[in-house]
Amino acid sequence: MNILLIEDDAVLADGLNHTLGGSGYSVAAATSGRYALQLLDAQDFDLIVLDLGLPDMDGLELLRKLRHRKLPVPIIILTARDGVNDRIQGIEQGADDYLTKPFELRELEARINALIRRCYGGFNNNIVIGRLILDTYQHQVIAEDQPLILSAREYGLLEMLLMQAGKVVCKDRIAQRLAGDGDALTDNAVEIYIHRLRKRIEPYGAVIRTVRGLGYLLESEGKEATITSLQEPVAREYP
Ligand code: CA
Repeated sequence: MNILLIEDDAVLADGLNHTLGGSGYSVAAATSGRYALQLLDAQDFDLIVLDLGLPDMDGLELLRKLRHRKLPVPIIILTARDGVNDRIQGIEQGADDYLTKPFELRELEARINALIRRCYGGFNNNIVIGRLILDTYQHQVIAEDQPLILSAREYGLLEMLLMQAGKVVCKDRIAQRLAGDGDALTDNAVEIYIHRLRKRIEPYGAVIRTVRGLGYLLESEGKEATITSLQEPVAREYP
């Protein structure tokens, strides 16, 4: 899960980075609204934590810009204790949750987890494809009751595909996401990661389809498996 933290208070940003990083989130921090917009142009995020008191831009204005772009990302706003109007306006303008400063880091983390469950996980913490389960709480993938051991990039790729399961994820987005802060990966490198991941997950009924010219799509092998099992009794000989 990639979180964008937009907060100019360096001490708070450091604390959040440390806490959320320790819980398996990958965190990018922006200390200004302008930089946040640049990051959002270059990368995909799963959740945004937005402080309304930014040095170069009103946080509510930034929120409006984000929603104007039809960015379908959950947003938690951070507001000052007396900012009742800010909170109301924030929610009205499309924030999904808010937290009043000062707050406990644990509370922010709990709210982030809850929001991610609400937005991506359906009614529980898990996204299931084939016999693979993405546990969005523990940030791990379970294959037939055992954790699937993956490299950080393989995990990032699988998480990205699982969260968009059934939809095409374009190659460019994958290249950017896997690169993190570095230069985007080449097409070849993306293909190598896809190839490796395919081999890891296919035994568990999850397939990555190539959608030519567009990208990749993860889906369960379910339908084919059902047809096979239906055909089985026909071939069987009865005494
Ligand atoms: Ca601030």
